[in-house]
Amino acid sequence: MVAASDPNLIVGDLAVGGMIFYAFWRLIVWVREAPVSPDPWDAEIEKQLSEPEAVEICPHCLTETSSTAWFCEKCGSAVGPYNNLMPYVHVFSEGEVFRNGVAGRFRHRPLILIGLILISLTSYFVFLPVYLFVLLANWRRHGGGTECGEEPKIL
Ligand SMILES: [Zn+2]
Repeated sequence: MVAASDPNLIVGDLAVGGMIFYAFWRLIVWVREAPVSPDPWDAEIEKQLSEPEAVEICPHCLTETSSTAWFCEKCGSAVGPYNNLMPYVHVFSEGEVFRNGVAGRFRHRPLILIGLILISLTSYFVFLPVYLFVLLANWRRHGGGTECGEEPKIL
């Protein structure tokens, strides 16, 4: 082995390893020392949220939901705390993401479109061309690049 017999390469390897370790250590220090962002609400709302009679609501349609529900009864959005971690239930959460892609219920940002395409590549096999066709048709219909609910730009 050449690297083990040449002392210059050994010193170089140690220097590179030391720099990588130092950079990783600085990353850990940077994350630990990052300022904590304040809560977006005041103390009164924080108190109301922790009261026992406080109800949970769907973040999409603001319908009251049960604390044991996995999905909203009105709109079907995932509302359970661990939906994406449960092996059986996460399939339905993933299905919701795919449905939102073809129904237009997502922010029309190019990065989100790329994410939907990439995740569909890993999930679909036979129906991938159909899904991509409907997804891109929906993207064009809603004037890709505009916010959800916003009028598409006409050039
Ligand atoms: Zn809902």
